Amino acid sequence: MSDEFSRDTRKNIINSIEGKTYEVTIIGGGITGAGIANILAENGVSTLLVEKNDFSSGTSSGSSKLIHGGLRYLQNGRFLEVFRLLKERNYLIGHTDIVRPIEFHIFTGKKMWNRIELGIGMSLYNLLSGKFPLPRHVRNTGTYPGGIDGYYSYMDGITVDSELVIYNIVSAQRHGASCLNYMEAKAIKKYNGAYSITIYDSISGTHKTINSRIVINAAGPWGNGVLEIAGMPTEQNFRLSKGIHIVFPFSVWGRKNAAVIKSLIDGRQLFIIPSGEVAYIGTTDKFIDNPDDFSINREDIRYLIESISPFFPEFKEDKIIAAFSGIRVLLGAGNDPGKISRDFKISVIDNFISVLGGKITDYRVGARKTAKIVSGILNKPLKIKNMPYIDYSRKSQSLEEIIKYECPVKPEDIIRRRLALSIYSPDLGKSMEERIYTLMEVSHEDPHTGK
Ligand SMILES: Cc1cc2nc3c(=O)[nH]c(=O)nc-3n(C[C@H](O)[C@H](O)[C@H](O)COP(=O)(O)OP(=O)(O)OC[C@H]3O[C@@H](n4cnc5c(N)ncnc54)[C@H](O)[C@@H]3O)c2cc1C
Repeated sequence: MSDEFSRDTRKNIINSIEGKTYEVTIIGGGITGAGIANILAENGVSTLLVEKNDFSSGTSSGSSKLIHGGLRYLQNGRFLEVFRLLKERNYLIGHTDIVRPIEFHIFTGKKMWNRIELGIGMSLYNLLSGKFPLPRHVRNTGTYPGGIDGYYSYMDGITVDSELVIYNIVSAQRHGASCLNYMEAKAIKKYNGAYSITIYDSISGTHKTINSRIVINAAGPWGNGVLEIAGMPTEQNFRLSKGIHIVFPFSVWGRKNAAVIKSLIDGRQLFIIPSGEVAYIGTTDKFIDNPDDFSINREDIRYLIESISPFFPEFKEDKIIAAFSGIRVLLGAGNDPGKISRDFKISVIDNFISVLGGKITDYRVGARKTAKIVSGILNKPLKIKNMPYIDYSRKSQSLEEIIKYECPVKPEDIIRRRLALSIYSPDLGKSMEERIYTLMEVSHEDPHTGK
């Protein structure tokens, strides 16, 4: 079977999809859906994944891009969650070339008690990390160039979130899944013991109908909307919280390590994260109602700048080169979004499985738990332990390779997600734009359809 996964591959799948029956159809091509597609395809389950925009166009390209245990969660006593996240962090750093270790500095402040408290937290974090060969945390005294007294350095992981999703999607496709971007699930009906799903291809403007024994709702912030079109009861306590990041040229930060800082405004934990030619700061955590509200307002930008400017005055509003946002699904009650668990929730009604919430770091855990349920429904033993693995890695960053093997449909799919130049390139990908349009054979007037 050819490894090609291009716009032509996509067209061919769509041309022969009408009336087809799959064992599993996954709705949503973020990290949750991509991980599940990957584990099912690796087990030979006939799988269709539909994503209404591009793969990873939702929250999974708007995260802080950390593959971490969540040191902060220890404060809320969420030890098991941290343990599980660290185990996954270790796996992803050890087994993929898309997650790498990064050094963090967390500032202790002047108060003795803060230092002791943080020291205990660091030791616990280390303990929960197990025997993974990352350097232990170290306490550093002395004044940080930012004017801060004392800090701990420790290691965690970092990735490019949208690439991690794409790698899982390509891996799933190579193992026999059909993954379709720009394909929206519009209607879902139970019919003759299976689900009949109407899907809409926004590139050609056509509808198709397929059948599926099992449906998996991995639609993240749009999860309740998918439950509604399926006529299923919606999730109670389903809350959305937006987080934004602002991006600066690397030179503004100029350090290879990331930093964890407490906002001077409200004490929330913020990150400064260097990556390639940029450094970004995040994030906010505010309840919102609309899953399509990715807007970034001045108030949130000012909050981030003013939170850290007493320490690092070089981060000024006029130096911002880009900003991005993501929307968390929080499943829990309470008025403070920061205190609601980041854990995912899986619910099953009548072979309709919803997998909502969670973190990028533990996407494989969600995939394994979902695969176990699928295995039970299909009455098929599936290999689940240590799965899924990622069976794809770029040989180069060449545009030709990306166009042929990673199914970008529009130029922005490369600029915003395959290479994420809109975040990582100081010119936001402008210098490569013409070449991308030419290679994809699309015009600026009609960037959608291609040849
Ligand atoms: C600000 C912020 C920072 C974060 N930082 C981190 C971090 O550093 N580390 C970490 O581990 N986690 C982090 N997270 C959490 C992580 O980003 C999310 O848990 C994860 O991306 C959720 O992925 P998902 O696939 O469930 O949702 P999404 O990525 O949103 O994917 C859902 C997809 O479903 C599609 N969809 C919706 N409806 C339909 C339909 N009808 N038909 C077809 N497709 C549909 C959408 O277009 C979307 O692409 C962060 C989250 C936020 C908001």
